[in-house]
Amino acid sequence: MEHAAIHEKVSRLRKFYETGASRDPAFRIAMLKKLASAIRASETGIMKALQDDLHKSEFESYASEIGILYPEIHHAVKKLRTWARPERVPTPIIHFLSRSIIYREPYGTALIMSPWNYPFQLTIAPLIASMAAGNCALVKPSELSPATSALIERIVRDTFDPSYITVAQGGVETATAVLDEKFDLIFYTGSTAVGRVVMTTAAKQLTPVVLELGGKSPTIVEADARLDTAAKRIAWGKFFNAGQTCLAPDYLLVHRSVRDEFIGLFIRTIRDFFGDDPRRSPDYARIINERHFARVTALMRDGSIIHGGRTASDERYIEPTLIGGVSPTHRIMHEEIFGPLFPILEYDSLDEVVALVNSMPRPLAMYYFTGRPRTARALFARVHSGGACVNDTVSHVGSHHLPFGGIGESGMGAYHGRYGFDAFTHRRSVLMRSNLIDLPLRYPPYGNKVSLLKKLFRLLG
Ligand code: NAD
Repeated sequence: MEHAAIHEKVSRLRKFYETGASRDPAFRIAMLKKLASAIRASETGIMKALQDDLHKSEFESYASEIGILYPEIHHAVKKLRTWARPERVPTPIIHFLSRSIIYREPYGTALIMSPWNYPFQLTIAPLIASMAAGNCALVKPSELSPATSALIERIVRDTFDPSYITVAQGGVETATAVLDEKFDLIFYTGSTAVGRVVMTTAAKQLTPVVLELGGKSPTIVEADARLDTAAKRIAWGKFFNAGQTCLAPDYLLVHRSVRDEFIGLFIRTIRDFFGDDPRRSPDYARIINERHFARVTALMRDGSIIHGGRTASDERYIEPTLIGGVSPTHRIMHEEIFGPLFPILEYDSLDEVVALVNSMPRPLAMYYFTGRPRTARALFARVHSGGACVNDTVSHVGSHHLPFGGIGESGMGAYHGRYGFDAFTHRRSVLMRSNLIDLPLRYPPYGNKVSLLKKLFRLLG
């Protein structure tokens, strides 16, 4: 999309925002309900688009891209008046005869940029938060999931006034042109590399950013973990969407004493989930495009394949694959895998786990499987991650009561539920002063008023 057309779209958003219409809570609620109806009416089309883009099964599409949005909308509709309510807070005595209030106000016009791996959900969930907070928005979906991105545009066009919410389609050129515009907030989901570009560009105009990025989420299996359940929960989180999940378990650290048993159970689980030939399973997704297919298959050269390893380039299929003999120096341990390869490393003591995880950038999530869940706190105190699960993978993203976001190179800021509202909201502090008394202490000429000031602050402090 051309610069001029994008500029025109953003100007219209800004004008609409200035009318104040998007700030009205009744408007926000009505629009969120409209969005829910539009999604409901398009469910079949969304699932078809996701099948075209990613060979996603209906179950995975519904669970991770559609169903998950309804509670978000419902929760925002129910709570946004409460969230948006001005908050009275105490006033220090020094400001006596004043009231202090925090107003929760929209930023204004937001930019939402999204990736291709959960192309519908990762566009609409931030949009829900933006709408709940009262913003106008320009949405830039990924060019790599064309069927879903086209559908997003159609839904937005049919549902909203383009002065309130609009879509810009295109690749890097469009993204660059969009980023040249002035926004009041940028909400970006995608790779850490592009996150850096977004933040650098935003810095030029001092636009605040929320960055939802990726990383290598470690998965740790202790000797006392319930191994059969762990195998299922890890295989589910790893191979959901063929590993193309920002939160997917990236690599496994298993206690040496249970390594062989766990691997046996894990391989059996893969067969239970997808059969002997996962290529024929209707429940197993494909790699998004040739570039990513080549990237992921190249990572297979590290270590040795314990299970899987078959590929079919004509349909961008990569079998669920376990890789052993991996060392921290291998490339597969340096970049986010974002595909169905699972490197396995063994450890003897948690100190080794801590040292390895801390030697890498802070991950988006970590998963800890243990028979003593209470010990998780001790581990979490030693290693950082955006979020975590104990005895599960990925599931924490599905709760609108938990803030979802990264830390360090896996992102900044968080959303979902109230936290999404907060991400798109500016807290404006207002002091309301009475005219009853106007003490001259603060005004010049100051003379020796400073000694009085010192006494006053000593008294207060
Ligand atoms: P990406 O960064 O390549 O693309 C995301 C968006 O950025 C797209 O809209 C794209 O058009 C745009 N873009 C691409 N290159 C650009 C450039 N040079 N300048 C400006 N804009 C550009 O990400 P992706 O490959 O679509 O998604 C995969 C990555 O996203 C993975 O790293 C994954 O971990 C991460 N991710 C994070 C989350 C999360 O919630 N934290 C969720 C999903 C994916």
